[in-house]
Amino acid sequence: MTEYASTRDLNQKTISYEETVLGGLAPDGGLYVPYQIPQLTTEELRQLLKMEYSELAARVKKFFAGDSLSINTLRDMTAKAYSKEIFPEQAGGIVTPVRKLVGTDICLQNLSLGPTAAFKDMAMQLLAQEMEYFLNLRGRYLDILGATSGDTGSAAEAALKNLSRVRIAILSPLIGMSDFQRAQMGNLTGDGVTNISVDGRFDDCQDLVKEVMASEEFHRLGAVNSINWARISAQIAYYFAGYAQSANKFGDSVDFVVPSGNFGNALAGHYARAMGLPIRNIIIATNENDVLHRFFQEGIYQEKSAIVTSSPSMDISKASNLERLIYILLGNDPLKTRQFMEQFSRSEAARLGDYGIPDNHLQTTGFNSGVSSHAKRIETMKWAASNGGGVIDPHTADALHVARQLPDDGVIKICLETALAVKFSPTLEKAGLEIPLLQHQRFAYLLNQPDVEAGFRKIAVDAEALKEILRQIFTMRT
Ligand SMILES: *Cc1c(COP(=O)(O)O)cnc(C)c1O
Repeated sequence: MTEYASTRDLNQKTISYEETVLGGLAPDGGLYVPYQIPQLTTEELRQLLKMEYSELAARVKKFFAGDSLSINTLRDMTAKAYSKEIFPEQAGGIVTPVRKLVGTDICLQNLSLGPTAAFKDMAMQLLAQEMEYFLNLRGRYLDILGATSGDTGSAAEAALKNLSRVRIAILSPLIGMSDFQRAQMGNLTGDGVTNISVDGRFDDCQDLVKEVMASEEFHRLGAVNSINWARISAQIAYYFAGYAQSANKFGDSVDFVVPSGNFGNALAGHYARAMGLPIRNIIIATNENDVLHRFFQEGIYQEKSAIVTSSPSMDISKASNLERLIYILLGNDPLKTRQFMEQFSRSEAARLGDYGIPDNHLQTTGFNSGVSSHAKRIETMKWAASNGGGVIDPHTADALHVARQLPDDGVIKICLETALAVKFSPTLEKAGLEIPLLQHQRFAYLLNQPDVEAGFRKIAVDAEALKEILRQIFTMRT
């Protein structure tokens, strides 16, 4: 049995995988984590690395879904989620193709070939299948509330919009999103999808969601942000796919460099490694909002109000998934995790050192980190274009910048490409680059969209105003 418990539950009451898919935060404010991390044998690993993506994704998911989903059900789901209709540019079952940069050991693994041109499609497409399956099975419906800094919202809406049992409302900030991201979301309105634009920043959106979901009236709403375990467990598979395409030979260690915000993506890499994939270091790349960098360098988790940057999907003041790593670092101890997180919310800072963990512990156990900036993004985008990387987006550029600072020690470094350049054309212009022709053609309908604003309802940072809209859109089903 594969079971889950909250990072903060002192009784460690377990729930099934199914319950993690349809739930959000645990009632005690913690996050659900698997009770045990599956361990692959060498032979199982060798087999996984030979599989085409949809089979690989089904097998990896099966380790975490336990009895909740059969392997054949999962195969049906991944065949749909990673089909040619949804990832049209795949070739030979390679959904996340890798390319190597000239004269380096650095590779780019493209995770962004899905419908909304960001890596969030990878998990969201599968999550949608899983939600629909469990809701059908139970004869249930689910209303979802979420917040986005730009990419989560459209990926969730694109994946969930045609499901008969799900309705979704997404808050997005007026400040920070690119015009393309806004057009993309505005365009997805309808079919049970409501977009709500908040006159504020991403943090305001996230706080509103938390506040409203804490109320009796709305606490049953579902979640699609990366605290949902189904998303993390869907992301583990592409680390295997990246390794299979990049390692010089079976068993060689590689590094992954991950453009990070809420720490969902990098956490999935940590689980892949814990299962037995030969990853040496997971390197966290941040932009100017360097909360994670400080954590990985000094063991201090300190909230810092976010500034708006040209890699906006990484503009965070705290990283919601970090709690899962903290739980692991604290020896899977819910009491210590609770104390750490309570200290963090009381004083906006907590130190691993206060829990007996040396300040440099993370660097000696397979993590590292680096910071990028606007100037470095621009410089790196230019460099990539003339060194076999093509035109990359600013988030990927943050990772590539950090990768280029690492010692040249013969170990392959795989940078995750988390969005396509088309989403961020003003930054491309600053680097003197143009949207690649294929991307331009594919997304022309968004680049020239006349009336984007009609797709949004607008509110101030006001929980009551939000509740009022939710009462309207989430009324009883007829
Ligand atoms: C969401 C996002 C990130 C950050 O990923 P996390 O899992 O939150 O760390 C990085 N880049 C892009 C383009 C994103 O959309």
